[in-house]
Amino acid sequence: MDCKDAERKIPFFLSDDLDGRGLAEFVEHIEDCPECMEELSIQFLVAEGMEQLEQGNNFNLQEALTAKLENADYRIRINRALRHILLILETAVAAAIIAAVIIVSA
Ligand SMILES: [Zn+2]
Repeated sequence: MDCKDAERKIPFFLSDDLDGRGLAEFVEHIEDCPECMEELSIQFLVAEGMEQLEQGNNFNLQEALTAKLENADYRIRINRALRHILLILETAVAAAIIAAVIIVSA
């Protein structure tokens, strides 16, 4: 993912509309790219910070953004784990089919 793509995806990230591969690629880019991280911080402040301040809440931008990124990391890990489990199951089923074919043809 390049900076242009990442910047386009910031609003979707902020509204929790990124998932799976898109979310993983976005977070990967953001964590390696100070420019996009800064852009994300600004948009995050505008989108969520203003709302919090209007409600009279104390708002720690850095803390809130870190929490959001950690949540994304968590979802990415869950997604990877699920894909991994699925792959193991598929392999097991394939192995069972091959074994059955061998037994039938023996
Ligand atoms: Zn970038």
